[in-house]
Amino acid sequence: MDHFNYRDGALHAEDVPLSRIAEAVGTPAYVYSQSTLEAHYRAFAEAFAGQKATVCYAVKANSNQAVIRLLARMGAGADVLSEGELRRALGAGVPAAKIVFSGVGKSRHEIALALEAGVGQINIESEPELALISDVASAMGKRAAVALRVNPDVDAHTHEKITTGRKENKFGIDIDRAPAIYDRAGKMPGIEVVGVAVHIGSQLTDLTPFRDAFALVAELVGRLRAAGHDIRRLDLGGGLGVPYQDEVPPSPAEYAAVVKDVAGPLGVEVVLEPGRLITANAGILLTRVLFVKEGDSKTFVVVDAGMNDLIRPTLYDAWHRIVPVAERPRGTPERPVDVVGPVCETGDIFARDRALPVLNSGELLAVRSAGAYGAVMASTYNSRPLLPEVLVKGASFAVIRPRQTIEELMGLDVMPDWLA
Ligand SMILES: *Cc1c(COP(=O)(O)O)cnc(C)c1O
Repeated sequence: MDHFNYRDGALHAEDVPLSRIAEAVGTPAYVYSQSTLEAHYRAFAEAFAGQKATVCYAVKANSNQAVIRLLARMGAGADVLSEGELRRALGAGVPAAKIVFSGVGKSRHEIALALEAGVGQINIESEPELALISDVASAMGKRAAVALRVNPDVDAHTHEKITTGRKENKFGIDIDRAPAIYDRAGKMPGIEVVGVAVHIGSQLTDLTPFRDAFALVAELVGRLRAAGHDIRRLDLGGGLGVPYQDEVPPSPAEYAAVVKDVAGPLGVEVVLEPGRLITANAGILLTRVLFVKEGDSKTFVVVDAGMNDLIRPTLYDAWHRIVPVAERPRGTPERPVDVVGPVCETGDIFARDRALPVLNSGELLAVRSAGAYGAVMASTYNSRPLLPEVLVKGASFAVIRPRQTIEELMGLDVMPDWLA
């Protein structure tokens, strides 16, 4: 469900024609729909209404503080992975107690900052990290509430670059080794064990891997409790997929039922960390056609957005729907084209052999489903400034991140005095 629809022949974000946004902020630009963000968050949170559940939005999917604040006001906590994300979440108004600090490589400084802020939970991904957290916490006279992120060695059947729950992935602690580490953790002065965490990957379109992983985690909880650990929380991560093309991912209700099957009998509180599910289909990348380049065997549509603005197609072979902002009548003939960006890389391709109507230079296109892992992964490669983000609410819109200027971009460089 989203609010990007054609009206009177023109694609709108809610009640705003996208052409108006292009006039106001230029292209390329990310455009998000507030109603869509709200609908996705609500659908997910309501699916867990009957359970003791906290939804901690995975900030890495889209970390604009306006997006975080919107979700925080709806009751969301946050899952963060760095000092930057932690400070964004706090700055956007997420209560520290509803923040989970995850990630495989936290620094001493970041751990101290998280403890100082009073985050609700720190997820531990290795034994050396456990020792470091205990050290830092005891030096501060605190005990860190922790969950061990276990790696259940379950195949999430998703793209290899977003699968995280296999033994060969860097994430988590082998589930077989977890009981011994919990025993050690239980004796550490700076540690308070509160739960078990798991996150097996992203863009899962089937419930089976979730069910398999959660069952292994439930078994572990039984063992840990028998060994005297007070396991009261299960952090089940994120990963529920969204439709980009013709996938039919499980509904939040179906996913919640699987969670209930596991968590219900254990009487634990659950933490859920959806990211993509909330933001992916609430955003588009708005871009303009620069040229249509006819080759011998191919037609290239060159647009003003590049892989530095949206890296998913080249990084994950991701498929994004691409539609003209000016609607074509039903039955308009289409032909296969490659939609490519201006960046000097062969991988700077948004779509290959994509059936599209004849496109004109200067016209606007919307790259759909770009609200997650889009703007957050943008870079300035080829000295292309970071693109703006716009939030639409009904008939209003606001720039929630202005386009970086070339001056700002160049101003980051500093000449050493011997070259001045
Ligand atoms: C990336 C990540 C998430 C969010 O994943 P989505 O697929 O966007 O829902 C949640 N938890 C952890 C620990 C993550 O690394």
